[in-house]
Amino acid sequence: MLERCEPGTTLAENGGERALDVLVELLPRHWVEAGEPFHTLADEAAWWSDDLPEQWEQSGRSIERRLVDAAVDALRSLSASQGEQVLLNQDLHGDNVLAAEREPWLLIDPKPLVGEREFAGRADRALVRARPLEGRRALPPRPADVRARPRPGARPRVDDRADDGVGVRQRLQRDAHRDRQVAVGGRGVTLRAVLFDVDFTLCRPGPELSAERYARIAARHGITLDTGRYDEAREAAVQNLKRHPELLHDETIWHRFTEEIFIGMGGPESLASECATEIEEGWGVSENFELYEDVLPVLDELRAASLRIAVVSNGIRDLTEFVAHHALDVDVIVDSRSHGRVKPHPTIFQAALNALGVAPGDAVMVGDSLEEDIEGARALGMRAILVDREERHPEIEERLTDLYGLPAALGLARPR
Ligand SMILES: [Mg+2]
Repeated sequence: MLERCEPGTTLAENGGERALDVLVELLPRHWVEAGEPFHTLADEAAWWSDDLPEQWEQSGRSIERRLVDAAVDALRSLSASQGEQVLLNQDLHGDNVLAAEREPWLLIDPKPLVGEREFAGRADRALVRARPLEGRRALPPRPADVRARPRPGARPRVDDRADDGVGVRQRLQRDAHRDRQVAVGGRGVTLRAVLFDVDFTLCRPGPELSAERYARIAARHGITLDTGRYDEAREAAVQNLKRHPELLHDETIWHRFTEEIFIGMGGPESLASECATEIEEGWGVSENFELYEDVLPVLDELRAASLRIAVVSNGIRDLTEFVAHHALDVDVIVDSRSHGRVKPHPTIFQAALNALGVAPGDAVMVGDSLEEDIEGARALGMRAILVDREERHPEIEERLTDLYGLPAALGLARPR
């Protein structure tokens, strides 16, 4: 719902003595009957009941257990004894009420929840926020070392964050129980950035880079290749693939790799290098690669959670051009071609972390290669999640078979 709001000054700034009266008048106006898609105060309370003891453990049992038990008891008994259920606004305060023409004051940025009206009547925060001087101080955040578990909530809790105002994307979320099962909690890290490998993590070679390309190029040289032998030839070439001993970026390795496939499909040694050079030209063309369908929606979700994003690749093409071509919304691009070393060398991960401005413990690496992506990142102290699209490594604990599970694995709230 959009309407012009003039002059738009906040109640906190301009309400003066009347601020509390204005809030008290606004409060009951949205107390209407409501159901889906809004989630309930009872769900929220159940989530708190589960989450508080966990947070208590994670914080090193920082307070007496009886206080946690008392809070959990109160949550259970209060949520079970609620009165009439109405639509509540969890975020009524002086910065969310603007001076307008249609009405003297308009409420913005509500955070809806269905529960008893007494909950919304907790005027302490509204009152505090209506007072300009004392009220503007940010409330203390959850301790940085305590990892938040995914919530059932449609919105952040009343008191757990600074208000991010109008224009910031906020999503409803649901299906918290599914989140809970896959979330990997309790690691004592703050997540600030996600690093992605590119090939076979975000994209795969398209038809232009398939066995037919080998055959087509060979045909121009008067040679017939057996496309049926491509998979076997490629697998053998992968087995033979040797990294540079000092992990330098070395494109001759890939040239040899392509030659081996060419020969494995029945091509002659004498033409292998020439044909391999032509075949490799196709690897430099961004449009020859297809993004997996989960990439763009998942990047959007990470963005919505304010995470920084990097791509880190050992590929042999211009990654900046690739990112632009596929409209990938990333902050940092590091490719071994420019960096000079390949994954798993620590400096290539460190270069990305430096450019992102985050510490290894605040970032997660996501990639399809155990050796390059997962072991490389872990050696630096990063968390790493294997993307195992072909389901080759069921033994790996931190593993996803597509990226759709990533937000939950990172403990992010699930959007609708
Ligand atoms: Mg890869």
